[in-house]
This record gives sequence, C-alpha cells and structure tokens, in this order.
Amino acid sequence: MYNKRLIDMHTHSDNSPDGVHSPMYMCEHAVARGLRGIAITDHCEIDKFIEHKYASTVFHSFFECAKARNAFEGQLLVLIGLEIGQHLSNVDLCKKLLDKYPYDFVLGSVHTPRGMTQDIKEIEYDKLDVYEFMNNYFDELTEVANLDLCDALAHITCPMRRIQGKYHIDFDYGRVQESLDRLLLAIIKSGKALEVNTSGLRQDIGLMMPEEKIVRHYRELGGKYITIGSDSHTVHDIGAGIEEAMKMVKRCGFDKITFYVSRQAIQIDI
Ligand SMILES: [Zn+2]
Ligand SMILES: [Zn+2]
Repeated sequence: MYNKRLIDMHTHSDNSPDGVHSPMYMCEHAVARGLRGIAITDHCEIDKFIEHKYASTVFHSFFECAKARNAFEGQLLVLIGLEIGQHLSNVDLCKKLLDKYPYDFVLGSVHTPRGMTQDIKEIEYDKLDVYEFMNNYFDELTEVANLDLCDALAHITCPMRRIQGKYHIDFDYGRVQESLDRLLLAIIKSGKALEVNTSGLRQDIGLMMPEEKIVRHYRELGGKYITIGSDSHTVHDIGAGIEEAMKMVKRCGFDKITFYVSRQAIQIDI
C-alpha cells in the first residue's frame, strides 16, 4: 500500500545493540512500503555509555543515517534521530551529545529505572509493588520531560508490556492517576510530544503504548503533539501499526500528527 501520510518516528538500525539491519537497507524497505519518512532513532543508554561503547555506535549511526538521507533524497524523508535512555544518570553527557550531532529528532526513554539495575523487560513484577513502581517510573519520565533535552517521550507505559502482557496483573491506572497526570502535564507544558508506540501490538499485551484511554486523556488535558513509531528492530516491522495508531489518535480527537526536522515540530493532517 502506498500511503504518503505515514511516517515511522521510532526505528532501530544495527547501530543499536538489539537492531538487525543497516540504515540503507531500512530505507529501501520504508520506500517499498510507501512510507513518507522514517526516523532512525538508535539507542544511547546514558547509564551504560562507556560499558556498551555508545560513543562509537552513536557516531556510526549518525553518519550512516546522513548517508542514507542523501541517497534517498526525493524518495523518502530520512530523519536522523536518537533514543536517549536514562537522561538523569548524566545530564551533561546528554547535552554534549546533542551539541555534537545535529539531530532531527530525539526520543526520551527510561529502560532501566533509576535505583534499579535491571531493564524493564527483565524485572520480576510479581516481586514488587507495581503501583509504587509505576509512580516512580512516571516521576522519572516527568523529570526527563522537564530537562527539555528531548522532543518526545517514548513508550511511557512500556513496563505494561510485562506487567499486563507477561505477568497478567490487572493494572488499575486509577491508582497512579496523579503521577500519570503530572507526566502528561509536563509533556504539554514543556512543548514535547507524546509518542504512541505500536510495538505492544506485536507483543503479548496487544495494546499500543500508551493505550487509547491515556491518549484521549492527554488530549483532554490540552496535549497537542503526537508522534507515532513502530520501535522496529528489523526491517520487517518498519511501519507496523502506524496506520492503526493514526486511526486511534484521530478517535481521541487529534487531527494532526507530528514529525521533527532539525528538532522543529512539523504537523501534518491525519
Ligand atoms: Zn525504548
Ligand atoms: Zn526504541
């Protein structure tokens, strides 16, 4: 299907530890799927910067994406992005990276919550208080939004992939309403975007992150900017769920989605 409205704002190349394909190969697939654009947002986990040699992968990612952008000019909008994990572990390092590389788009994420050593994928959620955990998770993301270093907050309910999807805990969002509202209001006040991440559709949870009721609530609170990303780690998932997410976002009252060029928000009709 050829649909020039579709832009996938969250993808990973082989310059991410868990990514498989090169930026050039990803762009070929994005063109074949009829996407208007993709943002390649490779990982940079600030708390593991030295240990996992991110200085090198971030460098390679930036230049390979710039090469792909030139090669696909006129065919595909190639946005050079970065997904920063754990900003709060070294804010100065984040600033240095963003000064060094002129990105189009920066995602703010938390994969290893502060005070913990495990990735949110590996935490044993049946051994902790999930409500306390999610309050802390939303509070950390609120601080990331307030730092004003990213453009969009990524997959804000990501732990739910395991809490609901794997551990089958019947999570009551009413019990974390205050911390979630603080996060949504921080996103709005700081002029950031809320990401709708479609990777949950391909996993046990079967829901977008965040799910529809939270996107609707963001709108009711005054939310303006939404980015949509597949969080693909292989070419097979590029663009996955983007059309569905656009329909969901529209049902929530939005008539535009947002992409970023040179860190500037550009809104297009859904
Ligand atoms: Zn992520
Ligand atoms: Zn990602």
